[in-house]
Amino acid sequence: MNNLNKLKSELEKINSTVKLDEPLAKYTTWRIGGPADIFFQANTINELSSAVKTANELNIPYTILGWGSNVLISDKGIRGLVIKNASKEIEIKGKSETNLPSVKEIEARLNVVDKDKYYNFDDLDYDESNSPTIEVNVASGVYLPYLINITIDKGITGLQWFAGIPGTVGGAVYNNIHGGTRFFSEVVKSVYVLNEEGEFITLSKNELEFDYDYSIFHNNNDVILSVNLILREGDKNRARETSIAWATRKRLQPANSAGCCFQNIEKTVQSELKLESNSWGYIIDKILGLKGKQIGNAKISEKHAAFIETQPGASSDDVLGLFEIIYEESKKKLGITPRTEIFFLGFEESEVNKYSSTKHESTNL
Ligand SMILES: Cc1cc2nc3c(=O)[nH]c(=O)nc-3n(C[C@H](O)[C@H](O)[C@H](O)COP(=O)(O)OP(=O)(O)OC[C@H]3O[C@@H](n4cnc5c(N)ncnc54)[C@H](O)[C@@H]3O)c2cc1C
Repeated sequence: MNNLNKLKSELEKINSTVKLDEPLAKYTTWRIGGPADIFFQANTINELSSAVKTANELNIPYTILGWGSNVLISDKGIRGLVIKNASKEIEIKGKSETNLPSVKEIEARLNVVDKDKYYNFDDLDYDESNSPTIEVNVASGVYLPYLINITIDKGITGLQWFAGIPGTVGGAVYNNIHGGTRFFSEVVKSVYVLNEEGEFITLSKNELEFDYDYSIFHNNNDVILSVNLILREGDKNRARETSIAWATRKRLQPANSAGCCFQNIEKTVQSELKLESNSWGYIIDKILGLKGKQIGNAKISEKHAAFIETQPGASSDDVLGLFEIIYEESKKKLGITPRTEIFFLGFEESEVNKYSSTKHESTNL
């Protein structure tokens, strides 16, 4: 029996979701991606860690997939094991003495976001830092929109700013998602991980190096198993209204995308180049004139030019083709190149290196 077959039979002892050569497109919001050699869906934290440990024992590489809303998967697929994280546990631990700082910790980087252009949420923002805190432990596979709804149902607030973001809690921590002016790191107390050495450890928030579109998990192979959140016993009705209003505004963004593909440029670069906005939506639309540009079944969105929309049958080559045009035109016209906000899975490094943002750099001039 080769190692893949051994892995298959071990995973089948955990649950029956194991598939060989499973096409991955249906597990992503772009609906792009070739087959995984072997695919497994983890339905609990324990199943997730057992699958990772089993792959490690057999020396088979593994990739964690959350909701697939922030990834481009190669048409060639992903070698080794792909684990779709659908772990579901949620535990309300009760009142907490922990009061995470309410100040915007990432203020300096946040200033690079041009709030006057494209989606502005300032009118929906409010302060609830005087409300009592409550600790909630959530499995990394929990779908964030579901978590927002059920916590608000129970009178627990603090996640309403992230309504309309389609992803898991693990994905939210991995890239420190931002909703309007809020970052997910503002509600994270600690994260329970299975680290590269095979140990189960708890990392506190200050060990996670949170920044704009960044956490320490970009630079290691730790698997995020669960997250301890510090939320609020705030105004339930206001939180509900805010989450609905927020999600409604975000519905203007195309769902058949991977969200905004490019990080906003630094304010200093914006002023050097005398640009009206630091958003790539503005640059691609007004400066590069590429809004609506199509390759195959992928298109630069007419609604927001930093989004790439796909139609059924789109390939990773179609999306990379658009990245290449944006990259080259921007270099030619402005002397800068965009940094992507998405993660490339299953590619050779040489295929995507120049678009990738996995290295944490603060300038792209
Ligand atoms: C319509 C639309 C709107 C969006 N709006 C926003 C927005 O407002 N703000 C924002 O920040 N983002 C936004 N996004 C991007 C995306 O939804 C978020 O980044 C989301 O949190 C990704 O989570 P995921 O579970 O889908 O992660 P995936 O896309 O499945 O994975 C992303 C990366 O995280 C890694 N990963 C995932 N889970 C784990 C884990 N448990 N352990 C270790 N690594 C893990 C994966 O290996 C991969 O490298 C939007 C996307 C869409 C399609």
